Amino acid sequence: MATGNCSVVLLDGGLATELEQRGFMIQDDPLWSARLLRSQPQAIKDVHKCYLASGAEIIITASYQASVTGFMKYLGVSLEEAKSLMTRSISLARQAVGEHLAERGIQYSREIHLYGIGQCRLPLIAGSIGPYGACLHDGSEYTGSYVDRVTKQKLKDWHRQRIELFYSEGLRLFACETIPVQLEAEVIVEVMSEFSDAYCWISFSCKDGLHVCHGETLVDAVSSVVHSSQVIAVGVNCTAPQHVESLLKSISKCSAGRMLLAYPNSGEEWIDSRWEVQEDSSLALVNYLQLWIQAGAKLIGGCCRTRPSDIQSFHQAFHANQN
Ligand SMILES: [Zn+2]
Repeated sequence: MATGNCSVVLLDGGLATELEQRGFMIQDDPLWSARLLRSQPQAIKDVHKCYLASGAEIIITASYQASVTGFMKYLGVSLEEAKSLMTRSISLARQAVGEHLAERGIQYSREIHLYGIGQCRLPLIAGSIGPYGACLHDGSEYTGSYVDRVTKQKLKDWHRQRIELFYSEGLRLFACETIPVQLEAEVIVEVMSEFSDAYCWISFSCKDGLHVCHGETLVDAVSSVVHSSQVIAVGVNCTAPQHVESLLKSISKCSAGRMLLAYPNSGEEWIDSRWEVQEDSSLALVNYLQLWIQAGAKLIGGCCRTRPSDIQSFHQAFHANQN
């Protein structure tokens, strides 16, 4: 990744996973890692820096499970305080990038051309936009079943609040991630159109080699969002690594030239409120790397249960390929 020629951009890995490894008990918390925005902001910044040091070139803010209503409900804070906790996720990521570069005496790590946006200096920050289900804390973020219970307008208003707040803080790149259902992706793209100079990637969580968690094919889900020139990349995250190659191949013809992205989980499955190791998931993530690159992935990283060591392995593998 040392040269500007490498066509693959490295994302970070699991933020909450790393916070748990460092002793923070957030597993059963309805706010998950977002609670630490208030109680342990330094810990979040440290994890961002650790991923940057491991080779990540785009880091994703600690706002996946953060919402103004969630902070007001579970922390008992005012509307203004809730908003300021939300935007703290951006300032912590910015501080992490600033310190990372300052410690190395550089202004940026490399320049790349990102689809839609044009020339960009890395590292970049992407604001995490998790699905509506992530704030319900009932597991429905992994099925998308809530779309049968909430109106499209409610989904739209809910997403607009966070996107608008982040946009007003100057953020222009959004990581719309772990989206389990096609309808929600469509809603997010509609909201994004209200902020015309912002860009996003749309990343789905998938249950097998062809379908998003709610059941639509990834082909249909991706096809429904690529009409928007604000969507710079499409793909999958928080999905078992063994399904990624098939999923990427399935969308190669419908992605309308968008970059493909893949940041799967470690292959462990979320069963009865716990991550459980599956028999066929023992292969280290880096072993899949070439398959994903061959399938067209341009943005690669990790999601739940992945750690800085996984990102470092990717980084080393890229580096080895160039020498
Ligand atoms: Zn995940």
